[in-house]
Amino acid sequence: MFEYAPAPESRDIVDIKASYGLFIDGEFVDADSSFKTVDPASEEVLAEIAEADATDVDRAVTAARKAYESVWSQLPATERAKYLFRIARIIQERSRELAVLESIDNGKPIRESRDVDIPLVAAHFFYYAGWADKLEFAVRDPRPIGVAAQVIPWNFPLLMLAWKIAPALACGNTVVLKPAETTPLTALAFAEICRQADLPPGVVNIVTGAGETGRALVEHEGVDKVAFTGSTDVGRQIARSVAGTAKRLTLELGGKAANVIFDDAPVDQAVEGIVNGIFFNQGHVCCAGSRLLVQESIAEELLDRLKTRMATLRVGDPLDKNTDIGAINSAAQLEKIRTLSAAGEEEGATRWSPPCELPDRGFWFAPTIFTGVAQSHRIAREEIFGPVLSVLTFRTPQEAVEKANNTPYGLSAGVWTEKGSRILWMAERLRAGVVWANTFNKFDPASPFGGYKESGFGREGGRHGLEAYLR
Ligand code: NAD
Ligand code: MG
Repeated sequence: MFEYAPAPESRDIVDIKASYGLFIDGEFVDADSSFKTVDPASEEVLAEIAEADATDVDRAVTAARKAYESVWSQLPATERAKYLFRIARIIQERSRELAVLESIDNGKPIRESRDVDIPLVAAHFFYYAGWADKLEFAVRDPRPIGVAAQVIPWNFPLLMLAWKIAPALACGNTVVLKPAETTPLTALAFAEICRQADLPPGVVNIVTGAGETGRALVEHEGVDKVAFTGSTDVGRQIARSVAGTAKRLTLELGGKAANVIFDDAPVDQAVEGIVNGIFFNQGHVCCAGSRLLVQESIAEELLDRLKTRMATLRVGDPLDKNTDIGAINSAAQLEKIRTLSAAGEEEGATRWSPPCELPDRGFWFAPTIFTGVAQSHRIAREEIFGPVLSVLTFRTPQEAVEKANNTPYGLSAGVWTEKGSRILWMAERLRAGVVWANTFNKFDPASPFGGYKESGFGREGGRHGLEAYLR
């Protein structure tokens, strides 16, 4: 064994202010009340954040409407593209700062925010900048919708912002976006970037707050389009409130993906894929491979190797470049993961975690697997949204398909096999928006993403992602 030497990324590059206002009509403005955002790795309060009420939301929607009518929808598409390219370049220039800020506010390892989140954010703006003056090649007679209300979750704060804002602006809409209450800081940094890029005031507005702010935004009468990413429960509420109005709606909700390993799969690669599928971003991933379906004949060997690999995962300081698993995003999420894991034990599944020292302060959960899981167990049915894997076995491809599809969700799935024909056979039968073959959790702005069934409707990314923002 060797002595472990931490390699923490410096925090000096970020300048977190004591308090932040709302970003409305190109200015930061105060609100009557506020809330705190914390660093989940230390429970340190990072900043006081303005909480938007219905009056503030109304101001933001009015600013977005004015900017839509008088400026943004009037601009030649090539001019809109220039702004988006400029934003993309500033994101690249400030990428180190954004990565550190994201890791501090969210708890995710710097390795991921630096190598995955922020590069994808820039890539998304570049990709949709390229579409702005070519929309007629995507749909006939492309026309923007108007003002988009966008509500996003905390697991990929800046990436979810990019998924929402880039296509909306490229298509000529203006936006009011509400980030999640535990992770507002990178959205507020993005507001500064909009100013740096000289984006006309009101084209992007950021209103911070919790569920009530989100509700005021999606229920506002001046909104033409609602785009929501988050839990299925809140998605249902929003679908009810939007029903019967002229508003357009897209929902990106939860998931419970099956990661299916056949006996001819390359085992070591499959183990890496399983680890990436469930422990990436602490398992706070809507498309996480949270149900492992392994063919019975190789189950024992595969699980042995998986446990050996899990014992090497390093849990701890998100800013340490060696960290594989960072902090759980909030006390509430940690509680949810603990409750569901306890339910798994009560229902008779076998729980295992590698020996792993967790820091004293902050919110942490060791990587965990459950074996002997039945399809009826809560840990096989409900989204845990944490570093917890449920293992089930199957004998035939038909059984694998039946078990994989036995879920109210349908966002993603993984297939591991040497046979190309089997990959296609599985992909045709799996009820999931994305099927990865011999890989997992791969994202590209050119590739559409979205779900079936209770995972929502609408697609983000690619040419399909434009349709949500065009008439
Ligand atoms: P959440 O639904 O609690 O919150 C999401 C956002 O909605 C937050 O900004 C929150 O403040 C806001 N909100 C809460 N109540 C609201 C209401 N009544 N009206 C309007 N807005 C409201 O979800 P979460 O716990 O923050 O995020 C985790 C969930 O998001 C998981 O279920 C995950 O699967 C899902 N998710 C899905 C995708 C996808 O693309 N399908 C991506 C990321 C996360
Ligand atoms: Mg935070």
